[in-house]
Amino acid sequence: MSILRIENLSKVYGKGEAAVKALDDVSFSVKKGEFVVIIGPSGSGKSTLLHLLGGVDRPTSGRVLIDDTDLYKLNETQLAIFRRRQIGLIYQFYNLIPILTVEENITLPLLLDEHKVDRKQFNEIVDKLGLTHRLGHLPNQLSGGQQQRVSIGRALISNPAIMLADEPTGNLDSKNGEEIMELLKMFNKTFNQTLIVITHDERIALQADRVISIEDGRVAKDEVIRS
Ligand code: ADP
Ligand code: ADP
Repeated sequence: MSILRIENLSKVYGKGEAAVKALDDVSFSVKKGEFVVIIGPSGSGKSTLLHLLGGVDRPTSGRVLIDDTDLYKLNETQLAIFRRRQIGLIYQFYNLIPILTVEENITLPLLLDEHKVDRKQFNEIVDKLGLTHRLGHLPNQLSGGQQQRVSIGRALISNPAIMLADEPTGNLDSKNGEEIMELLKMFNKTFNQTLIVITHDERIALQADRVISIEDGRVAKDEVIRS
């Protein structure tokens, strides 16, 4: 069963002679529980694709369906709610809120929609992330690896259909980077959490179930590594 379907997705920035075709008729599907890496050189269209998958920007043409919801048929309010509940976004620079504690950062997506925090689930997530003794700390009191673990907690708290990570290890040293990848893979394998990682790092691609290579805004290769 596909949890994500991308159909004939194109994105053009600008108009007339200045127009840039950043994505050109991209189609692929991702199965529930799959770990997919999307790899490509700088300028190939990765960020554009990430923004379209994450519901942050709208395509010029084509569709994105997540768990059968057509993302761009939603209005802005519906899209914001859908994004918070179904797409766990993880960024290179964490994007934590500096004046909120670890616990507040993790539970924020639920509070914004006036959903109760499931304490059992919260405790399990922070335990697995090794953050139990850091809940009252502010982000600037944590190492980079710990901050990225907080952002993983924030992404997981609403049981999203997909986790979408943009260069999640890009700002970390190799030891912390490996630790973050191990955690993401653990949630992927143990909880069947669908994981999409966008990167230019070949070492991360080697760990995936499937690698989709993007070049000049098109899918150049789509390889299943393990199934
Ligand atoms: P990547 O993330 O792989 O580096 P991008 O998606 O950022 O690739 O860029 C794909 C192409 O679209 C590039 O040619 C880039 O210059 C262009 N591009 C990206 N964003 C914009 C924008 N806001 N306006 C105009 N061109 C853009
Ligand atoms: P790392 O080697 O993972 O980058 P650091 O050397 O930055 O970690 O920190 C080591 C430990 O000290 C970590 O557990 C981190 O949470 C803690 N720590 C670092 N800076 C602060 C701070 N300003 N306040 C409280 N704890 C801190």
